[in-house]
Amino acid sequence: MNIAIAIDGPAGAGKSTIAKLAAKELSFIYVDTGALYRAIGLCAYRNGIGSKDAPAILEMLKDIKVELAFNDKKEQIVLLNGEDVSSLIRTPEISMYASDVSAIPQVRAFLLDLQRNMAKTNNIIMDGRDIGTVVLPDANVKIFLTASAEVRAKRRYDELIEKGMDVKYEDVLSDVITRDYNDSHRETAPLKPADDSVIVDTSDLDLNQSVEKLISIMKERM
Ligand code: C5P
Repeated sequence: MNIAIAIDGPAGAGKSTIAKLAAKELSFIYVDTGALYRAIGLCAYRNGIGSKDAPAILEMLKDIKVELAFNDKKEQIVLLNGEDVSSLIRTPEISMYASDVSAIPQVRAFLLDLQRNMAKTNNIIMDGRDIGTVVLPDANVKIFLTASAEVRAKRRYDELIEKGMDVKYEDVLSDVITRDYNDSHRETAPLKPADDSVIVDTSDLDLNQSVEKLISIMKERM
């Protein structure tokens, strides 16, 4: 049996950075499910479809293929109709698009098997919003990672600035708050901790402390 570790939590809680390091330490595959919703958001954006225009997005889904693959460094890449869009999906516009398209139940259904199949064939750490509640309800370990909105916005802001993007902290904070609201108030698979998850608040922890804490929870529960 493969081992599955689910990490859920709001935008900017450090899920991907921490999960990547933990996966390396445990020799597990790391799967970032947000990239899938971002790829669909990017596709809608490119086609001039509004992020909340469900009928047009459903029509678009009929003709698109979203896949996950791994490069030679074992890093995840996301393919949209065969094109590697991994770096194009990391902009603030596409973050909001992803949040909006992810509220459409058929978009979530479209991505479900792909996510579950990854867990059938690999030992994985999968991060997202509904991994412990919907995608992998039988995961061996479930962690809900969170931090205050201000701390999360500051981390996101630093990341974007480091990538050379021209953003304002206030805008990043307001995006984080809007996405949190959208993600936790949608009807299908809202963001919430699974009943059997361990809640970890990283507001006062640095990266090393957060990784250590998660790895110790994982090892204890695996
Ligand atoms: O994790 P990331 O910020 O890349 O996710 C982008 C958006 O995709 C989130 O704001 C959320 O709306 C959506 N998402 C989701 N379910 C997941 C992963 C991401 O709804 N499992």
